[in-house]
Amino acid sequence: MRRCPLCTSEETAPFYQDRKRCIYRCKRCMLLFADANSHLPPSAEVKRYRSANSKDKPLQQFLSSLITQCEQQVQGPLLGLNFGRLLNPQAIDAIKARGHQLNQYDPHFAPDHTLLRLEYDFICCYRVFEHFRFPGKEWQLLCSLLKPGGWMAISTQLLTELQGFPKWHHKNNLTHVSFYQQATFQYLASQAEFRLLFASKDLILVQKPTGSGITRDPSSLI
Ligand SMILES: [Zn+2]
Repeated sequence: MRRCPLCTSEETAPFYQDRKRCIYRCKRCMLLFADANSHLPPSAEVKRYRSANSKDKPLQQFLSSLITQCEQQVQGPLLGLNFGRLLNPQAIDAIKARGHQLNQYDPHFAPDHTLLRLEYDFICCYRVFEHFRFPGKEWQLLCSLLKPGGWMAISTQLLTELQGFPKWHHKNNLTHVSFYQQATFQYLASQAEFRLLFASKDLILVQKPTGSGITRDPSSLI
């Protein structure tokens, strides 16, 4: 038995085995995850990231539509975080030209921890969640970095049918260790009391609630 790295449930079971690794399934949050014994050594993983195809163009488009959506809801400059995959400096400048600031954090290539002490209007995680070895820890971190009312846009391929897993090419990349279903994000959003605005194909959009609805009477502070 393996403890689920997302929701910590022990209700997990082996689900799929191939020559390289065993995949487990969590019955509570519906995450599928690779056995930790099969994870690549960190150096091999970083090497693969370096040689991986750049996803600059699609990431840029993904961010641009996220910002457009935020602009429709919030007046003024936005502070965003691009987490886990770096965008080129020209694209960052283009966002600046729109009047916004985008910080970038990557654990391997831009590990600036001071950026993880701020709060953001939006967070972008483009093709990142599938690489999380400790998705529960990462999810909690990301939730804590959002301002009330802030949005998190996640791009990761969702598994639509369990029985389709053996033929799912997405699982063949050994740096992909966590696999999500729509139900996984329904579970996460309800646990965090976030609004799940969208979870289909490979886009997930959640919003942090603006508050408990209880406002303090200013006179009580006197
Ligand atoms: Zn779980």
